[in-house]
Amino acid sequence: MPEKGILELKIFLEKPRKIFLASHRNPDGDALGSTLAFYHYLSQNGHEVSMAFPSEFPPIYSWMPGSDKILIYDRQSEEINKCIANAELFIFVDANNLSRIDKMGLEMQKYETPLFLVDHHLDPDLTSLYYYAFPGESSACDLVFDVLTEWEQKKYIENIDIATCLYTGILTDTGTFSYNTSPKLFEKLSRLMLAPFNHIEIQNKINNALPEKNLRLLGYCLYHRLEIIPEYRAGIIFLTKSDFEKFNIQRGDAEGIVNYILKINNIDIAVLFTQQPTITKISFRSLGDYNVEEIAKNYFNGGGHKNASGGSHFKGLKSAITLFKEHLPEFFNKYKTIN
Ligand code: 5GP
Ligand code: MN
Repeated sequence: MPEKGILELKIFLEKPRKIFLASHRNPDGDALGSTLAFYHYLSQNGHEVSMAFPSEFPPIYSWMPGSDKILIYDRQSEEINKCIANAELFIFVDANNLSRIDKMGLEMQKYETPLFLVDHHLDPDLTSLYYYAFPGESSACDLVFDVLTEWEQKKYIENIDIATCLYTGILTDTGTFSYNTSPKLFEKLSRLMLAPFNHIEIQNKINNALPEKNLRLLGYCLYHRLEIIPEYRAGIIFLTKSDFEKFNIQRGDAEGIVNYILKINNIDIAVLFTQQPTITKISFRSLGDYNVEEIAKNYFNGGGHKNASGGSHFKGLKSAITLFKEHLPEFFNKYKTIN
């Protein structure tokens, strides 16, 4: 069963509670949107709510209502540990397992506090007391929409802060409504858009607001670092530690580069390798039935979705690229068989 205890939880929330909201490392628009939508809903209903991410969110999201109240474990662990200790309910969004948030997850697991998991990734951990987990749905925000409408019909969905946050998460996780969409999703979007926010303004803030250096970095990657492997319909790009220094960029600045590889005709799988201080992080994207989640899970200690996954490698950048190329034929052959 993909959902458990939603109505019991509503009853639990009839009294003011202390609630701790959390999402994943390197938070994206969906992690922010789903966390903040719950934050607004719950605080408007008299609850005492704190929220935390393991690491910073990209500054491109700092306009989101309530984002100034988000705590970051990498620099505020003591304060967050107190919120965790005092909470009567944990809500964990846009990630499938507390193990995904390392130290912060371990801290949460010290307590018997009931947990509500809301997620759309594959392999959700269904041991929590409450969950709403639908792998394959567009976004965590899509699911938060369901939970809030189940609890409140439409009143809260038309609240400007909640609607803004949910719209933003759906926008970012569907590549501006270009994948993982459905008639049902567009119906939800049309309901959100009844709230008085300017949706074109949000699209501009997200899609047309890159710092100049990020675009120059993209140009550099496409010109100097793109390798096409035509026989497997694959394209890869890598970034080294010294690239990060040279361009004065952080990991979040490289986000999005991987998607450009898929714009090339006859390319159905795109991979970005980024060398971090101690590990190599890998981002996978694909089209159609090319299942990158399996590659991420089987060989790179990761996971995610069929068409967008991530993982890590601990033996260096070169070794990560070699390992990927070694296993690429196996995944391509599966893909070819289906198509
Ligand atoms: P990204 O490439 O943008 O970092 O991640 C793409 C998708 O894969 C996201 O949905 C993200 O949550 C998931 N993902 C990224 N890294 C990991 C990882 O190390 N483990 C798991 N299980 N999922 C990941
Ligand atoms: Mn998501």
